[in-house]
Amino acid sequence: MLNREDLEERELATLSRLACKARESRGRRIPEEEDPLRTCYQRDRDRILHSAAFRRLQQKTQVLPARTGDHFRTRLTHSLEVSQLARSACLSLGLNPDLAETVALAHDIGHPPFGHVGERVLQELMKDQGGFRHNAQGLRIVDLLEERMEGEVGLNLSYETRVCLLKSKIPEGFPIAEDLPREGPPFLEGMVVDLCDRVAYVSHDLEDALRSGLVDWEVFAELALPREAMEHAKARLHWDQGTSTPHLLRRRTVSSLVAILIRDLVVSSDRLLQEAHRLRSPEEARLESKQLIAHSSQRSKEILELLKTLNEHFYQHSQVLQAIHLWSNRIAEIYKAYIQGEKKLPPRFQSMAPRWGKARVVCDYIAGMTDRFLERHEPFSK
Ligand code: MG
Repeated sequence: MLNREDLEERELATLSRLACKARESRGRRIPEEEDPLRTCYQRDRDRILHSAAFRRLQQKTQVLPARTGDHFRTRLTHSLEVSQLARSACLSLGLNPDLAETVALAHDIGHPPFGHVGERVLQELMKDQGGFRHNAQGLRIVDLLEERMEGEVGLNLSYETRVCLLKSKIPEGFPIAEDLPREGPPFLEGMVVDLCDRVAYVSHDLEDALRSGLVDWEVFAELALPREAMEHAKARLHWDQGTSTPHLLRRRTVSSLVAILIRDLVVSSDRLLQEAHRLRSPEEARLESKQLIAHSSQRSKEILELLKTLNEHFYQHSQVLQAIHLWSNRIAEIYKAYIQGEKKLPPRFQSMAPRWGKARVVCDYIAGMTDRFLERHEPFSK
């Protein structure tokens, strides 16, 4: 059997000198005894996976409202896809796959209901009081709001996990735990998660755009990436023999797209990491000004081109916006109702109001809601 110490030794023996290693972690905000079997990053991952905030991602919008259909992405399935991609990419690059998995599972945990539109509504409502950003809210959740022990200690995660969840910057005045810097780049594993996040959403949003019938393939057919991915898929499916269906071709096109982009990310980052021989530690790699984790410049351009098309034809599609706008108005109404009647907040949020201020706890409560909870929520009918 392998215990924690064996796993830590294995990391030290096999990972890159620029990878975060559990044994060298700066530890937790509140010191705890180590687990006999799991490394600190594996334990962080398990805490996230078992948290209430993580489970709520199943009912939160990715692009299409979570209730649109059973096969469209939600924040939960998106986070699982990102975690698989980031784990694979880190394994190939000699970076820590457990840390990457942890960060990927938590990277969207602070998203409010109804996606980026919900985020903008809360930002507007809170603009004079520290604003709202999903990454900052993610830190509030893991550090303060999740209930695991007495007091506001949240999940008490390892320092490296928290730094990666910062996603570079917290808005001025937004309250997070005091021991964490408010600004700073992630470790390499966090950078991998960030790019895998983008690979996951350009690919699955392409699939969801087509599947929903809101966008036709013709819109993408002239773009380099989707075209290349489809050529790949056709070759794999022996398309010219006429035995495959368009449905299968669409699925395989998206999986080819993911494969092309992850391979590019790994090959290009490997080259950059090899050139960085003077860097000796994960901390030096994190603070290095030159990019160490990146796509090739050609693929970067192609990704941006695809994103632009998705934005014009899918994210801004009148049906997508209509559904989402309806519910963002509702977010603003509910916010105002609680500001005027804070006694209707659940007792736990009421008890936090003296410390964080009424607006912030109302914002915390609403940001935690799922699409479904928000849709059915009538704060003053009870
Ligand atoms: Mg994401």
